[in-house]
Amino acid sequence: MLDTELDDVVASLRFGSVAEDWAALLAAQKAAQAAPPPPPSLIPMAVFPHEPGVGWCGVARWECQRKGCGWGVEMSVGTEPVGPLILPVDFTPADLSAAISAGAESRAAAQREALEHAFREHLREVHAEDPAGGAH
Ligand SMILES: [Zn+2]
Repeated sequence: MLDTELDDVVASLRFGSVAEDWAALLAAQKAAQAAPPPPPSLIPMAVFPHEPGVGWCGVARWECQRKGCGWGVEMSVGTEPVGPLILPVDFTPADLSAAISAGAESRAAAQREALEHAFREHLREVHAEDPAGGAH
């Protein structure tokens, strides 16, 4: 790289961007704090039933929080196939990243729906509760 090229690179850098990024981060944090809390979920925090080791976090378990109930749902996590990515012919790295993120969000939504369904059914059938209120 020639010195003139290096000068061009240095000149293209956004000096002061750290302060701008920091301000944007603080604004986003403030907005998130001002936002209403998400609705309560039927799904409790996951636990990882297997001992630490190879693949130990590949299975997560969501357990019923009712006292004395040992019921739970186990699912594989992080091992789902990625599936096809739909990209424009002249895709950019940003398109690829967006497609991967959309796929991950779709799989997470499907898993969340399956868990909510399982917990809703369990609460209704075993604990005779109407989970329509959502709090768990
Ligand atoms: Zn239960």
